[in-house]
Amino acid sequence: MSDETRTCDARATLIVTLTPAGTATNVARERIGLRCGLPAGHAGAHVDAERAEQWEAPRDSRPTLLRHEDD
Ligand SMILES: [Zn+2]
Repeated sequence: MSDETRTCDARATLIVTLTPAGTATNVARERIGLRCGLPAGHAGAHVDAERAEQWEAPRDSRPTLLRHEDD
């Protein structure tokens, strides 16, 4: 059996926030599901190449990541 074709498949949720002009409140603009596409058992951070995001977390957790965007 070969594991070469298996991917890590760790999941995370990325929430993109922004601060509308004239307010001091962060609002969620976008909620994106991430999935690690690296080979199963890889070392280091998980990477979703499609979204150009990476995160570090135990494989079985499903963390929520926040990214703030300013216009
Ligand atoms: Zn991974």
